[in-house]
Parts: sequence; C-alpha cells; structure tokens
Amino acid sequence: MALEEQRLIFKHIDAPGYTRDIDCYLKHGGYEQLKKAVTMKPEDICAEVTASGVRGRGGAGFPAGVKWKFLDRKSGKPIYLICNADESEPGTFKDRQIIHKDPHQLIEGMLCSAFAIQAKLAFIYIRGEFFEGYRILEEAIEEARAKNLLGDNILGSGYSCDIIVHRGAGAYICGEETGLIESLEGNRANPRIKPPYFPAALGLYQCPTIVNNVETLCDVKHIIEMGGEAFSKIGTPGNTGTRIWCVSGHVQKPGYYEFPCAALTLGQLINDVCGGLKPGRKLKAVIPGGSSSKILRADERFTGKLKDGTEFDWGIEDIPMDFDSLAAVGSMSGSGGVIIMDDSTDMVEALANINYFYAHESCGQCTPCREGVPWMRKVTARMCAGEAREEDADLLNDIADQIAGRTICAFGEAAAWPVQSFIAKFKDEFVEKAKEQASRRNEGKPAATETTLI
Ligand code: SF4
Repeated sequence: MALEEQRLIFKHIDAPGYTRDIDCYLKHGGYEQLKKAVTMKPEDICAEVTASGVRGRGGAGFPAGVKWKFLDRKSGKPIYLICNADESEPGTFKDRQIIHKDPHQLIEGMLCSAFAIQAKLAFIYIRGEFFEGYRILEEAIEEARAKNLLGDNILGSGYSCDIIVHRGAGAYICGEETGLIESLEGNRANPRIKPPYFPAALGLYQCPTIVNNVETLCDVKHIIEMGGEAFSKIGTPGNTGTRIWCVSGHVQKPGYYEFPCAALTLGQLINDVCGGLKPGRKLKAVIPGGSSSKILRADERFTGKLKDGTEFDWGIEDIPMDFDSLAAVGSMSGSGGVIIMDDSTDMVEALANINYFYAHESCGQCTPCREGVPWMRKVTARMCAGEAREEDADLLNDIADQIAGRTICAFGEAAAWPVQSFIAKFKDEFVEKAKEQASRRNEGKPAATETTLI
C-alpha cells in the first residue's frame, strides 16, 4: 500500500487551485508568520530555531540554530543573509520546486530569518540556468514589496529589509558557501580557506553572513508558526522536521516526496512510495544523498551503533531515511537526492558519468583536486572506451585517497567519495571489465561497449 506523504514545506504545492501569486499565498495564511516574527524579539526567534534542532537541508546537515549562534554580532558591521538556491548536486531537484510553485514561502522564511539575525539586506543566489526561477522570484518580490511585506518599515514594524536575487553563471562550486560569496562579490567562485573565512564572521564583503539553503529557510517559517519544541517533535531527536526526498533512477514513480525525518525506510521509499523497481529488475545500489554521497550496495549488511548507542543490523531496505542513520551506514542524506540503480546498471559507466561531472566543476585552486579529478575522469573514460587496464580500480582508489582531506573545500571529498565507495563496493566489476577488455584487445576484437559520455 502506498504510504501517505506528510507535507509541511510542500503542504500547498500541487494542491488543486493553488497558484504561486501572493493573493493565493495570503489566502492560505501566508505572511502570518512574518507578522508574528516582527513582534518577537530577534533572540527569541533564534532560540526557537535552536530548540527546533533543524539541520541544514543543503548537504552538510549542520544545525541551523548553531550556525546562527556563530554570527559575529559585535563587529558593528552589517549582517547579511544569503539564500543558497544554487542547487547543483546531481540528483537533487527540490529547491526549484519550492521556487517555482511557492516562492512566497521562501520569501517569508527569509524575512523571518533576516529579522532574527537582524540583517537589513538579503540575497537569493540562484543558479544561472534557472532563469524561470529567477523570473518568478523577481515577480514575487515585487508583489511582496507592493504590500509592504518587504522593503522599508515592513508592516509598520520599524524593521526594513530588502532581498536581491542574484543569478550565478551555473557552476557547482557556487553551492559551496564561500565560493558562493566570492561569486556574489563579482569574483571567480574560488572557495575561501576556513579558518579564517567562516562566513558567520568574515562573509560577504568581510561582514558577518549567514548562508542557508532554500528548504532550511522555509523551515524557519514553520518553526515560528508551531514553535521550536513542536517542530523538534517531528521526526526523531537529532533528525527533526520533514525532509524532501528527490528520487530518480530506476523506480516506477520518480519524483519529490516529503516525509518526517526517519518516518520511513529506504525500502518503503522505493517500494511503497515510488512504486518499486521496473518489472523483473532487482535492486543493485542506491546513492542516498546526491551524487557526492557514498554508494550503498543492495546486498550489504550494515551493522554498528547509532549516536545514541543503539545497535543496528540492517539490510539496505531497512535503513531509516534520516541524517544519522545514513551517516551510520557510511553515507549521508546530503541534499536529499536519492538515486536508485537496478541490476541493469553498469557501475563503471555510472562512475564515469559522475567523474565527468566533477572534473568539469573543479575550480582548480588546489592541485590534488585540479589534477586528480580530471585524472579520475580520464581513467573511467578509457574504461568505457574499451581501454581498461587491470590496475585501474586500484589507481582510481589511490588518486581519490590523495584528494580527500587535502583540499581547500569539501569539493575534494565530494569528488573522491563516489570513487572510493564505488571501488570499495564494486571492485569486482571494475576488475572484470578490465580483464574482459584486455582479452578482447589481445584477440584483436573491437570493444564491447562504447562510451557515450566523453
Ligand atoms: Fe577548488 Fe577543488 Fe580546491 Fe575546492 S577542492 S577549492 S573546488 S580546487
């Protein structure tokens, strides 16, 4: 039986008759939380966000309230809020749905957050390719401004805040918060070294800055509405609120689905929510949190202890869909992009595809990433072109090991983790392919597969 979604962020999205214009939003209780927020003490809103336990929905899963606490409020410099709407992690497509179908929810969440941190200027950094989203946001901002929900003296509260929508040029690294800030300043999106450039102290224009994901900022509106404690009761301790899972790959009904954290297992998501695999197919692997998260093999047993000491012994379908459980099995929930692979998947080709993406996106500042990621792309490309060598699996692993942990930003890990995990879990396939290709070459036969990637 199909499991019913429990929507919070997507409560109205897709409901019959719901449109993205401000009148429809107001009819559904829109901007009531902004009205409430501006009557509260900013520090009380921050306390509610901390009490909610909400963790960032962009990838790292860092608690938003803790991030806000790091803000350097004593510097006397302006404070900025940035909404990260770059959404470039392959497999992830939730933020653009919010922007396209409910832009005022984001604007309200941003204004509540901006008031809480006392920012007078906020930015939405949107990926360059999302032109339609940019247009929709500009329109929504003008609608809000016309009703005095944005701009000077919002709702007569004495608080003023404006929002600027900034289009990037379309680069993965602009989703990394310090790369984003560089880009917003008009520079190449080269991530900054942390320390000292933690945005909460030295962010945009060297001023204290909070960067949050689209979904996280929407959550703030709901935290104000229900209170931090009530929000923290959704899900489980440490994994609070709902999550929007973007499911793609070999399932009958790919799409976005919202459930409380930990409310369902990976098996329920695949079978009960997404209609199962294609007829006659078997599950082979899952990438649970966007392409940079480590792959899970379908026939693995996952054993260990959760943060609270609870022991677990799970098959892949038993894994609860939340931050801590996915971390405990050696991967992560990341940006919520769940990629399902059935037994028709060629793992060498799948990794070649991922490597192709990351090699294109390295900013080039650090040598291990600049040289290593294209090298990994070259190796998997030649494996797809019938030129695999027996040592390629080990070579890939060696290169990845020399990248992870040796770079300025987490892109190094984002590019290395897929390689490390594919080789750890599917080395047999890589070695088999190399042997089969070597024997074909020795016999003077053409390659059995041809790459369409590179
Ligand atoms: Fe740039 Fe890669 Fe270094 Fe990040 S890890 S700063 S993307 S070269």
